[in-house]
Amino acid sequence: MTMNPDDLKNPESWLPATRMVHGGTLRSQFAETSEALFLTQGYVYDSPEQAEERFKTESGGFIYSRYANPTVAMLEERMKLLEGAEAARCTASGMAAVSAALMCFLKAGDHVVAAKALFGSCLYVIQDVLPRFGVTSTLVDGRDVEAWKRAMQPNTKAVFFETPSNPCLDLVDIEAVSKIAHDAGALVVVDNVFATPIYQRPLALGADVVVYSATKHIDGQGRVLGGIVLGSQKYVNDHLHPFYKHTGGAISPFNAWIMLKSLETLSLRVKAQTEGAGLIADHLAHRLGSGVDRVIFPGRDDHPQAALARRQMKAGSTLVSFEVTGGKAGAFRFLNALSIIRISNNLGDAKSLITHPATTTHQRLKPELKAELGISDGLLRLSVGLEAPEDLMRDIDRALSALRV
Ligand SMILES: *Cc1c(COP(=O)(O)O)cnc(C)c1O
Repeated sequence: MTMNPDDLKNPESWLPATRMVHGGTLRSQFAETSEALFLTQGYVYDSPEQAEERFKTESGGFIYSRYANPTVAMLEERMKLLEGAEAARCTASGMAAVSAALMCFLKAGDHVVAAKALFGSCLYVIQDVLPRFGVTSTLVDGRDVEAWKRAMQPNTKAVFFETPSNPCLDLVDIEAVSKIAHDAGALVVVDNVFATPIYQRPLALGADVVVYSATKHIDGQGRVLGGIVLGSQKYVNDHLHPFYKHTGGAISPFNAWIMLKSLETLSLRVKAQTEGAGLIADHLAHRLGSGVDRVIFPGRDDHPQAALARRQMKAGSTLVSFEVTGGKAGAFRFLNALSIIRISNNLGDAKSLITHPATTTHQRLKPELKAELGISDGLLRLSVGLEAPEDLMRDIDRALSALRV
């Protein structure tokens, strides 16, 4: 179907901010302004003929909310428009999205290449779950394009990474790695949580599938869990949808409704949080040598991959990682002296949250891998929220002075 790009009724003619407010809206017979929350497990049919037809074609209406639901469908449509994807499925959590995105098409005998710097549960899926079903893997330094090339095998069917990565904000060159993967016949699955759909478009850079933990910036207010998988219509029809509808990873319509409303403010929130993160990164950089040993922020020129960040991301990140002096004791003293910034392992929230990865999210990793990934005992990962950046800087300065006493 060809669309007239000047037709303002066509959502594809809209800019992202408009898509996030109006995209995918389905109005019921009551013509409500705000998207309706359809809390229903099932649907009734006018006749057995209609039920038979619905099951045969899975079109023309809904069957069961494990397969699809009107509120969830609105969120899927809005996310499709935002990401520029042909199809999407929303899941109960980010991990339900990651596991469905990979398990729906991999089979015994296949091989996966993934970056070492992965969210802990993603690493568990690759290293502990997939091998039980005969899927092997190679982990590489995601920053090193040549390492990806060397790791490819004739049976490599998937390449998986996050960029920026957790917690050291390393980048993977999406375009270069996608090319290597495609030459080897593998599908590229990108976990785009840290960049958000506002700052990075993996599909436009060559990736095949994008996954999100909507729990993070998409809800952005610390309330509900959710996930999204986006890709081509063929990937969704042939692999994802059958797996999804029969294995039960569907999102609750209530959670989908929260996410749908959150998308309306996603770009405002992410922009304000990134601006705050940039100010805080610069503030921390001014304190290098006085309690701060290192600052990592993809929006700064001193990020080791600043050129790549400029090429594939529209802006920095809502996260800043930094190292304080004094190892674990120093990090804990810093954390205990904070008043506004709260200690938590979550991120992307309106509230600023800080994590000590070495003793929490990355506790399980062997010391050698921690060292290789740059997860030192003094490393902290700060997710910048919507508070006044000046208050956050005051909080940080207080905590830094606690390091000196
Ligand atoms: C949080 C997170 C996940 C998992 O999402 P959940 O919603 O917690 O299941 C996956 N990848 C990254 C990068 C994350 O930050």
